[in-house]
Amino acid sequence: MWKAIVRIASVVWQRYFAGDYAGRPHTEFTRDLREELGVEYNPPAPRVDDDGGAFLAVDRLRALSYLTPEARRKDELKADWQYVHPGLALWSAYFIKECRRHGIPLYVHTAYRTPEEQQAAYERGVSGTRPPRAAHVQGMAVDIVHSRFHWDLTGEEWATLHRIGLNVHTRLMQAWPAKHRFQIKCGIEWRNPWDPAHWEVVGWQDNIRDRPSLAPMRRPIDTLVANLRAHMGV
Ligand SMILES: [Zn+2]
Repeated sequence: MWKAIVRIASVVWQRYFAGDYAGRPHTEFTRDLREELGVEYNPPAPRVDDDGGAFLAVDRLRALSYLTPEARRKDELKADWQYVHPGLALWSAYFIKECRRHGIPLYVHTAYRTPEEQQAAYERGVSGTRPPRAAHVQGMAVDIVHSRFHWDLTGEEWATLHRIGLNVHTRLMQAWPAKHRFQIKCGIEWRNPWDPAHWEVVGWQDNIRDRPSLAPMRRPIDTLVANLRAHMGV
């Protein structure tokens, strides 16, 4: 009986506190990334410079142990999913789950923004557009950042997340029926402003609508996935 309790406690610890890859050789993690996600990087080597190298980038991003159940819940309930494009929302959830599987904790900082929030963001200089002509106000964009470092990532680290995000997107588009497919673009490709946390549905500008502000819709990731899968039939 006590043995079973200790066993369960250790599994829980392993999954929720120490990260799925804790205690496993780093080569397993790197091999999974390469084979499953197509993320390439250099093998670890002594380094003196500080200009990236995807290996170190990925290594620092692996901070799943940072994500206690309370921190995870707080992260998951940050974004407002009101009016958000269902495919984009489901992709966001899968992107986060995929990164977690590799020990990288991410969260959606912003999904839908009310016109009032967009106006405030514009006035603070955080965003260059006024409502309603803003992807977040149209429910067509998400900002996804690291749970521990938030926006404070190197270019190489953002590039690693970008590759994983695109890979998840490609796999979903292959699996989903045509009516749910969409193209995605990340602000890592922009210069002015460079916005690597920002992902948006291509072509959102074609359908600008004014919508009434509603109460925020916050959902834990697994609930979001279940609801959207049922809604979309995927
Ligand atoms: Zn954004």
